[in-house]
Amino acid sequence: MNDISVFPVRAFQDNYIWVLRRGGDAAVVDPGDAQPVLDYLRAEGLRLGAILNTHHHADHVGGNAGLLRHYRVPVYGPYDDRIPTVSQRLREGDRFSLAEFGIEFSVFEIPGHTRSHIAFYGAGMLFCGDTLFACGCGRLFEGTPRQMHVSLAKLAALPDATQVYCGHEYTVANLRFAKAVEPANPEIAIWEREANAQRAKNEPTLPSTIAREKRANPFLRCDQPGVIEAAGRHAGKPLKDPVSVLGVIRDWKNNF
Ligand code: ZN
Ligand code: FE
Repeated sequence: MNDISVFPVRAFQDNYIWVLRRGGDAAVVDPGDAQPVLDYLRAEGLRLGAILNTHHHADHVGGNAGLLRHYRVPVYGPYDDRIPTVSQRLREGDRFSLAEFGIEFSVFEIPGHTRSHIAFYGAGMLFCGDTLFACGCGRLFEGTPRQMHVSLAKLAALPDATQVYCGHEYTVANLRFAKAVEPANPEIAIWEREANAQRAKNEPTLPSTIAREKRANPFLRCDQPGVIEAAGRHAGKPLKDPVSVLGVIRDWKNNF
């Protein structure tokens, strides 16, 4: 696509802080912790040019202040007072450029996990925080099944080849759940073998793609007969619309 690469800096148990790099320039998505990012930038001889935040949770923004002490950079994020370090507030449809990377990002509002959650889409890459996970979705801390359904549908409408960079390494557990929902879905079995092999080598399972998410992720498949039927069995009553299917499988996953 171009000469931009994306490197996963690990933080906490299973967070990924995504570092975009091109030449000596770097930008960072969801730095929950400053130190591992500072270490990486120094080791690689990179200068930080921007911070992007998808939502206010500490494991995604906790490193902003520490990075800002070393680098005077813009912080792109949602309209939400709970992230006081954001300097460029963004809403649905906004666009902004990272000149060093030749990228223009578009912003999507994707409430569900939190009420002000946003995603960044540009250069064929999607940074979607804790809303869309590889073969899963985030918990509904501040949103409804309807909001999550609309948000996921927005992301599912992106081109098939879109690279999906989410905030956590949850893929193996998500695939195990997806298999319980749709045991006969061949894409889930193929992906599970791949993901298990990657984790055995301690490699990330990300990015995934929108095409793969549409084939395997039950939360993007709430209109598919197999998912509707499995959710109905779990709920003990027939379900008619995708929003109630999503609500049921989200609860099911919470207790899985
Ligand atoms: Zn979160
Ligand atoms: Fe998170």
